[in-house]
Amino acid sequence: MPTFQPSRPGERMIPVEEAQERVLAEVQLLGTEQVVFTDALGRVLREDVRARFDVPRGDNTAMDGYAVRADDIANAPVSLRVVENLPAGTVSKKRVEAGTAIRIMTGALMPDGADTVAHVEITDAGSEIVTVNESLNRGTNIRRRGEDMHAGDVVLADGTPIHAAEVGVLAGVQKPVVRVGRRPSVAILSTGDEIIDVGDEMAYGKVVNSNSYSLAALIREAGAVPRMVGIVPDTPEATIAAIESGLESDYVISSGGVSVGAYDFVKEALDTLGAETRFWQVAMKPGKPVVLSRIRGRLYFGLPGNPVSCLVSFLLFIAPAIRKAMGQTTNLLPPIVQTRVLASLKSRGDRRNYMRVRVMARDGELVSQPMISQGSGVSTSMVQANGLMIVEAGVTAIEAGSMVPTVLVGPVQS
Ligand code: AMP
Ligand code: MG
Repeated sequence: MPTFQPSRPGERMIPVEEAQERVLAEVQLLGTEQVVFTDALGRVLREDVRARFDVPRGDNTAMDGYAVRADDIANAPVSLRVVENLPAGTVSKKRVEAGTAIRIMTGALMPDGADTVAHVEITDAGSEIVTVNESLNRGTNIRRRGEDMHAGDVVLADGTPIHAAEVGVLAGVQKPVVRVGRRPSVAILSTGDEIIDVGDEMAYGKVVNSNSYSLAALIREAGAVPRMVGIVPDTPEATIAAIESGLESDYVISSGGVSVGAYDFVKEALDTLGAETRFWQVAMKPGKPVVLSRIRGRLYFGLPGNPVSCLVSFLLFIAPAIRKAMGQTTNLLPPIVQTRVLASLKSRGDRRNYMRVRVMARDGELVSQPMISQGSGVSTSMVQANGLMIVEAGVTAIEAGSMVPTVLVGPVQS
């Protein structure tokens, strides 16, 4: 019968920050590919995108109204002769001479001679003759040429993650095809003799594989492509074979089998495969056993089997790695904010504890509602949780109302 796993010489439990640094130090930038800009959402830009022309192309009106000369309306109210009607997209052939105005719609280029737009609200909206009732400073209501983008300027820098605003700018500079980071493929294997799959018949003592699916979802959310390797029985041979098959992807993630149990074979399998292991244990709860290894040029992440530990360690270590691999250069780690905790909390104090909370904006500050159960096996405690409240080692109680640093892993709720 196998025995408990012995601890290894030189093995050290490292702080979370050090583990994050070691992970990011191991991540290499993946290659690039070109995609149609409408497919670039969620990708990372891998070229500098420059404006090809000034945007706007020329001075134009920000308001519907009348293109006038500021001097003409200095003694408003004043009546001006309307010499032309200018919808957006048309270019005036006339000039605004003293005593005249051109009716102009938002976005239309400023006609020669005019230096100000009298917005319709301060006029009588006349067609032949318009009365302007107020004077305006020269330049009022004019959007200047190049105010948005100057020809030749980098408007989106290499390394920018592409969200909605970036898609809009790509469209605005007429960039139909754009170079982005390749999406990494990530193999997922779930170890455990007790694990059955979603479609299998339930039996007493069995546990449904939820980790593979929540990990796949997190991988997609991070912009990568998950690949299911499946459920792996707790034998050294099966573990080795599954890891080898995982190595066809850019990264391999396993859940379970990294602890000190007699049937935790991941470490042994990694040794057999000649993996260079960077760390085995991180000083955190949930998720103390977390493995980072390099095997045949690939990165291997061994996460604990407990569903909460598995997700928390993905968010702290693997999501940043995926961002870096795709080309993101800043904001790799999830942000840490101060939140006011709404209920008192107890912690064992032996290790830094990442307690699941719901972070909400309330009365101008961020507040955190701790999840009722904080057990690392309680998968439902992650539902609606968007924060991991950091309770440091040595701290055993947190008073309701105190401010506590909290890792934001999802959008703040209202
Ligand atoms: P281990 O890290 O292998 O010791 O597993 C720790 C706990 O996580 C055990 O109670 C397992 O039943 C549970 N577990 C392991 N793998 C999974 C999985 N794929 N889905 C859900 N729970 C799991
Ligand atoms: Mg196990």
